[in-house]
Amino acid sequence: MSEAYDVVVIGGGPAGLSAALNLARARRRVLVLDGNRPRHAATLLSHGFLTRDGIPPLDLRRLGREEVAAYDNAEVQFALVHSVDAVAEGFRIVAQGVRGEPDRDVLTRTVVVATGLTETLPKVANMRAFYGTAIHSCVECDGFEKADAPLALIGESADLAEWALLIAQWSADLIVFTNGSSVVSEPEEDALAASGIRVERQAIAELSGGREGLTGVVLEDGAVVPRTAGFVRPAWSTSLAFFESLAPERDADGYVVIDSWGRTTVPGVYAAGDITPPGPQQLIVAAGNGARVARALNRDIAGVPS
Ligand SMILES: Cc1cc2nc3c(=O)[nH]c(=O)nc-3n(C[C@H](O)[C@H](O)[C@H](O)COP(=O)(O)OP(=O)(O)OC[C@H]3O[C@@H](n4cnc5c(N)ncnc54)[C@H](O)[C@@H]3O)c2cc1C
Repeated sequence: MSEAYDVVVIGGGPAGLSAALNLARARRRVLVLDGNRPRHAATLLSHGFLTRDGIPPLDLRRLGREEVAAYDNAEVQFALVHSVDAVAEGFRIVAQGVRGEPDRDVLTRTVVVATGLTETLPKVANMRAFYGTAIHSCVECDGFEKADAPLALIGESADLAEWALLIAQWSADLIVFTNGSSVVSEPEEDALAASGIRVERQAIAELSGGREGLTGVVLEDGAVVPRTAGFVRPAWSTSLAFFESLAPERDADGYVVIDSWGRTTVPGVYAAGDITPPGPQQLIVAAGNGARVARALNRDIAGVPS
């Protein structure tokens, strides 16, 4: 435990790296620890990040790491944080190195938590094989590339009918698959039908297709509904066991509660990106959150109002 930092940023996605960049530029001593399991790794191309529209997601992160690490007062390392504990000097962080990088046990005055979300897809055999290429979860991110295609919307969440109306903006040929759940009410089904959107209530056996892409949705009774692309409503969860000893307030869905500047309810601990109560889950929004948190954190250390 020889090293002491002004800030340790946990998570090297756009939120964490953007916070780190701005804090490095404020001449704070910064360490980024990243477990290197990016949420959007399933996809080949990221969209909607100004000046980087269409960039492979791993390239976006590599560029971010390189920009941060170029500052002498900043380090970026692949390591999975196991614990964050309050100590007299601030916080002690213990992390296990990944990809051959060393374990770390460091002290820091402040912490930025930017560890993102994990998603659970509806139980449909082989959906993962198409996730990120033919099946997506973010219509703002991937809808444009699927415009006017025969689309599926697959989900078991109560907001499925709303999503169908939204996705119809990108293609009028849309079928909603509830996978055997009863999340679309009859009045909602009637409203969708009035917009030309059919609801299929059977459970899904699997998706059909292969190297050529998605070809259809195979229903329980063996019928194949031809579809070439689609969207899915996953369930989102946070994995924050590593900082439970600090007992930050979380909302009913497990997101970390923050003030308008990204301060958690634990003094000295900040949070940014997808782990904070939901707004748009997009790369540029997460990066913007990171910059905002950096500004507040730097001013808090300086004793100056944000
Ligand atoms: C398939 C898919 C495609 C997407 N496509 C787009 C798109 O085209 N355009 C767009 O704008 N958005 C897209 N998104 C959304 C976008 O990826 C997220 O909104 C964004 O990545 C959130 O950034 P973040 O920094 O909050 O978290 P993340 O990017 O998820 O980064 C969190 C990081 O923290 C690390 N971490 C987690 N736990 C620990 C720990 N204990 N210790 C150390 N590190 C840890 C993870 O390994 C990860 O590297 C997509 C999402 C998915 C799932």
